[in-house]
Amino acid sequence: MLKIINLSSRYFNQTKYIFSQFNLTIPIHKKVALLGQNGSGKTTLLLLIDGLLKAENGSIYWEQELLKYHPKNIKQWRKRIGLTFQNPEQQLVAGTVAEDISFGLCNLQLSKQEIKERLEQVLKDFELELLANEPLHHLSLGQKRRVALAGVMALNPELLLLDEPTTYLDQHQRNNFLQELERIYEQGTTILIATHDLNFAYQWADWFIFIHEGKVILEGEANYVFNQRQILEQIKIQLPILWEIWHTLPPDLKQQNNQQLPRNIEELKKIICRIGKQTVID
Ligand code: ADP
Repeated sequence: MLKIINLSSRYFNQTKYIFSQFNLTIPIHKKVALLGQNGSGKTTLLLLIDGLLKAENGSIYWEQELLKYHPKNIKQWRKRIGLTFQNPEQQLVAGTVAEDISFGLCNLQLSKQEIKERLEQVLKDFELELLANEPLHHLSLGQKRRVALAGVMALNPELLLLDEPTTYLDQHQRNNFLQELERIYEQGTTILIATHDLNFAYQWADWFIFIHEGKVILEGEANYVFNQRQILEQIKIQLPILWEIWHTLPPDLKQQNNQQLPRNIEELKKIICRIGKQTVID
């Protein structure tokens, strides 16, 4: 599991702490959404977990390994924990797609053969084969995001941290991205996504963490957290659209679906169609 204990952190030359005595535990193999208003500390927390920002106090453990900031330890840590930035342009360093993905692999000191095999696999997995030799500056932001994700996944991280991954994606790319996430999750990776896209989070995640002013204010499964209206109002978070629609349906109709929340539009459509047919027959 990921365990954060009494973490305190503030940016260089700042007096204000973003996190003070912050605690958080995330079990392994979960799909976790990290939510909160702009400025609540989501990006900062991901940077701290990845070791890109050094905490002033406190400890971060991944599966019993303590994060230490010595360059040798950090290198080992980043083999286990991968991060993609909100802006993929900050992440991509090489000339072409294939070069960029290989760059990370070279840092792992793998054999040439293994680098070649991992590169080919990841190009295939992320449907980047046709773009392999394309200069990065020819790509759209959505494509760059896919390359950044492919580059991190080539390293086989156990914990994947994604910062606002749905920005720049159109509906089609978003659906593809959801499939990519599912594949990554099924490989055994724990995924933590910082997002303000509540509808995406609701569709994808199985565990929700809300942070506010540097504290975890609410966490749990969908059924629990989205019932905490008062807390959500306090932190100015609206409810996911599908949740709202579901709760406007009459109780007996929801009962017919065993109170199973629809998590995407297809599931909701099926329920409504089934209910519609039953009503006609009745
Ligand atoms: P979120 O990702 O939830 O929008 P951030 O982690 O980006 O929040 O920001 C948390 C707080 O840290 C904000 O008050 C922001 O202004 C501050 N902050 C972020 N980056 C820096 C920085 N490089 N230097 C100083 N303050 C920063």
